[in-house]
Amino acid sequence: MTDRLLMGPGPSNPYPDAVAAFGRPMLGHMDPEFIGIMDETMDRLRQVFRTTNPLTLPVSGTGSAGMEACFVNLVECGDTVIVGANGVFGDRMCEVARRCGAEVVRIEEEWGRALDPQRLLDAQAQHPHARLVAVVHAETSTGVRNEVAPLRALQDTDTLFVLDTVTSLAGIPLEVDGWGVDAVYSGTQKCLSVAPGLSPVSFSPRAVERITSRTVPVQSWYLDLGLIANYVAGASRVYHHTAPVSMVYSLHAALGVVLEEGLENVWARHQRVGDLLQSQLPELGFTLLAEEGHRLPDLTTAWIPEGLDDAGVRRTLLTEYGIEVAGGLGAFAGKAWRIGCMGHTARERSVVALMGALREILGA
Ligand SMILES: *Cc1c(COP(=O)(O)O)cnc(C)c1O
Repeated sequence: MTDRLLMGPGPSNPYPDAVAAFGRPMLGHMDPEFIGIMDETMDRLRQVFRTTNPLTLPVSGTGSAGMEACFVNLVECGDTVIVGANGVFGDRMCEVARRCGAEVVRIEEEWGRALDPQRLLDAQAQHPHARLVAVVHAETSTGVRNEVAPLRALQDTDTLFVLDTVTSLAGIPLEVDGWGVDAVYSGTQKCLSVAPGLSPVSFSPRAVERITSRTVPVQSWYLDLGLIANYVAGASRVYHHTAPVSMVYSLHAALGVVLEEGLENVWARHQRVGDLLQSQLPELGFTLLAEEGHRLPDLTTAWIPEGLDDAGVRRTLLTEYGIEVAGGLGAFAGKAWRIGCMGHTARERSVVALMGALREILGA
């Protein structure tokens, strides 16, 4: 069986406890013991999201399913939504919103630069009836951390605050309640270090109110949070769809690892390892891409040195050294790399292995 050091934008190497938990004997999804594990998983998710929201659960599907769940539940045809767009995932939110029939107001920023939160607040002031403002916290396509805490001011308006935390949850500081986030989604295969397959989400009481006061039912039956909540959290546990039992075991275990290490310690570890990588890459001729002061520690983007064979070097890294890093997306293709240090992969030893391999390949 091939084993790799996964230093791309996800999946990361799962925590060993998450891998072991996946192999637990199967239980029926209505088994009281499984329901207990699900309840504990939701409680652990509240702790890592830093929220008391009752509606906090893992949606079946990858991070994009969580994104879609936010939009299909909160948006109705004809609603205005404001989206910060400075990378692939902001663009994806615009597309999902459009497919829900929303009028999308795009607030664009150059790739590699952070969004100014004031521009999003100004857009809301111009469109006070906007249903929501949506932003990506950690833009995995560009390595940028958007400053989102000031969007707490949306609490004083009727506009909801939706946040993509796929590459930030359990990696960098995140305060769902502290920042007044109304709807948040993430994914399991990035800093949570589980296999891809679940999307943790959390909805504030005012977001829930928005869902219950809809004028037309949620178009997606599978992602209808009212139905899902009755199944995973309601008193009667009405069958909706079969929970991905083994994935829930695995997520439960990974959250246990994170909480045992301590969430702040996990954030500090990601920062330390990201700083180490970013301090060493320039020695080999790489130039850090993301705006200084807004660089993610868990996903580093760097311009590759002049003359370096992008695909060739990445292939050698993978086949000779067992290390995966990713090329650039969109306009960055062939010009930049994306290097992840997420979850269990966020260790000094990963940086040592990658830098050693690169020095050998480049003859430095
Ligand atoms: C990976 C990612 C997604 C999409 O998640 P999938 O698991 O690939 O569906 C969404 N947003 C961000 C910021 C991501 O990094």
